[in-house]
Amino acid sequence: MKKTILIIPKRIITCDYENRILKDTAVEIIDDKISSFIPVTEIVNQNYNEIIDAKNLTLIPGFIQTHVHLSQTLFRGLADDLSLLDWLRLKIFPFENAHSKESLKVTTQLSINELLMGGTTTLLDMGTLRYGEVVLQELIDAGIRGFSGKCLIDINDLYSDFKSSTEDELKDIEALAKNFHNSGEGRVKYSFSPRFVLSCTEMLLKETKNLMQDYSGSVYHTHSSESIDEINEVRKRFQKENVEYFNSIGVLDDHTVLAHCVHTSSRERKMLKEKDTRIAHCPSANMKLGSGIASIPQYIKEGISVTLGADGAPCNNNLSIFNEMRLASLIQKPIHGTDVMDAKTLFRMATIEGAKALHLENEVGSIEVGKKADLVLIDLDNYSNSYSDSDDSIYSDIVFSSSAENVKSVMVDGNWLVKDRKSQVYDSQEIVAKGREQLKDLLKRIK
Ligand SMILES: [Zn+2]
Repeated sequence: MKKTILIIPKRIITCDYENRILKDTAVEIIDDKISSFIPVTEIVNQNYNEIIDAKNLTLIPGFIQTHVHLSQTLFRGLADDLSLLDWLRLKIFPFENAHSKESLKVTTQLSINELLMGGTTTLLDMGTLRYGEVVLQELIDAGIRGFSGKCLIDINDLYSDFKSSTEDELKDIEALAKNFHNSGEGRVKYSFSPRFVLSCTEMLLKETKNLMQDYSGSVYHTHSSESIDEINEVRKRFQKENVEYFNSIGVLDDHTVLAHCVHTSSRERKMLKEKDTRIAHCPSANMKLGSGIASIPQYIKEGISVTLGADGAPCNNNLSIFNEMRLASLIQKPIHGTDVMDAKTLFRMATIEGAKALHLENEVGSIEVGKKADLVLIDLDNYSNSYSDSDDSIYSDIVFSSSAENVKSVMVDGNWLVKDRKSQVYDSQEIVAKGREQLKDLLKRIK
């Protein structure tokens, strides 16, 4: 028996090749896919399982975040005013090291809840050192789309307790990838996730890349060139720039996603372009950790794939794609001029470009017939939104004037995960209470 839903919105921002905005059009969903667009005047069949009359709401594709840390949400507000290496050494590595399965489960639930409530339907997670199966299982159970995997660390000069042996790391990821890649009806995929160059041996970085080749559709996800202190250390160790080093050991290609790339030379950008490597830009985290401003207009001009992520809650301190879109635009204007990073560019970076970066563009990222029904209904008639009904201001209204609060309903794979601002997955109050309890216990476990 097929499940059928008809959504009749005020308008549809398709994010398709022509950036069409459709009015007086309904979207028909059969099971997990968008099956057709129907002009409102031609709706004859009323025989749907569900008809959503959303004439005051705009239908947009679900947002895609290409760099998040689900394991860190529990640590929000506990690691402010530090630069990257101290932030890791003094706070984040000790915190992550103290995770139990229970605390990891609740931080993952809190993260997914916050992401869904803000309209994010696909994520790429960095994972943490232990219990990768807990995060992957939660992605399956929640119904969201995403990639996660075990975060790989086999050297740790910053916090020596937080690492594993190269051999164990490789054994663990093989088992996890085998069990979880393409699980949850294909929504959940494995990401091979070396933490960053300073926490991995060359053997681990290379072997992980080799292993990945057996899992079509998986990604290689790591951090690169985030802060000056980090790249100085990389230069000292390898006499190379960060991206240059990755290139020299053969881990860059079109299935590699590098978070940040704040500090890169023109030679490194050429390598990124040649290898078609994807960049996850995290402007809030880059500002908050004082890392710097990535030259994103330059990346875009050079044809390098750039998409967006909120990074971790302790360096942001929230997970809203709206903040990232807005900030990614604003920080560049004083440097590159007011005509760069317009709202439409940002909106596409957070939707269809995100899908392309993860090789999911045939499934998600735009509202088109045949694609998965990963959809968001957003209210743009709020008192703080634009008062114009013109299509010209629609992207600006979303990128510059909206927040997660504007998101009303969220669907992934044809299932409502948020409806009328109520999560269909979690009881928010309950997981917040559990989170507080788990955090208290976790902090006690840190020596
Ligand atoms: Zn990160």
